[in-house]
Amino acid sequence: MIIYTLFSGSSGNCVYVKDKNTEILIDAGKSAGAIEKSLAALNSSLYGIKAIFLTHEHTDHTAGLEIISKKHHVPIHITHPSYKALSSLTYLPSCARRHDIRYEVAVGSLKIRSFEIPHDSNQNVGYVIENEDGEKLGIATDIGHLTEEILSSLTGCNYAIIESNHDTGMVKSGPYPLFLKQRILSDRGHLCNEECARLALHLAKSGVKAIALAHLSRENNTPDKAFSAIKRALDDGGFSKIDLKVASPVISTCICK
Ligand SMILES: [Zn+2]
Ligand SMILES: [Zn+2]
Repeated sequence: MIIYTLFSGSSGNCVYVKDKNTEILIDAGKSAGAIEKSLAALNSSLYGIKAIFLTHEHTDHTAGLEIISKKHHVPIHITHPSYKALSSLTYLPSCARRHDIRYEVAVGSLKIRSFEIPHDSNQNVGYVIENEDGEKLGIATDIGHLTEEILSSLTGCNYAIIESNHDTGMVKSGPYPLFLKQRILSDRGHLCNEECARLALHLAKSGVKAIALAHLSRENNTPDKAFSAIKRALDDGGFSKIDLKVASPVISTCICK
């Protein structure tokens, strides 16, 4: 499996996965032009993408969708509630495949399975993507709080892209208005570094090889803070060999190639 985050964070999210001749994207939260440019640097193109799997309807995950739908006709997979929220704002083609919250789809050599993630959208899902060799990638961002379903869904993943959104102290002492602070810290907001460390340790115990920290807040976190919080937890647990990195907000970050 070849795995890259193309963009990550509140300014846009997109993950590229390639296995044999199958190429898919998870989310399309930048303009179609920006995504096309990132794909070109990886010798790929939107014309080669077989499907896009959306996590939820927020703009940082869907900004490029309208143009991609109209121009490139890539099949889009989305849950019913997110489709409803999005279709009132954005053009979505009738070929959008609408699903119940927990669904499984095969695309080429990949099997994609969704699971529920609590968040302040109509609905939010994470994905486990598996190839025919049994290699598994788990993706979970925009996590209000960790649930048994998230932990069990990600168990056994070889690679993981997980949210490490904020440092709780920075949120509390930062410049955001109170309602926004409450939103971020609520159990339907985003995941703090400490809870991400708990998730990383869980993944480590079930054999993960590489972890990318994703969806970092620009205002309420720093790459150093996120990295050191999770690295410390992994080192303390005896998992210092795991390949840990922070996904860049603006340039492609290689998770596996
Ligand atoms: Zn969101
Ligand atoms: Zn988001």
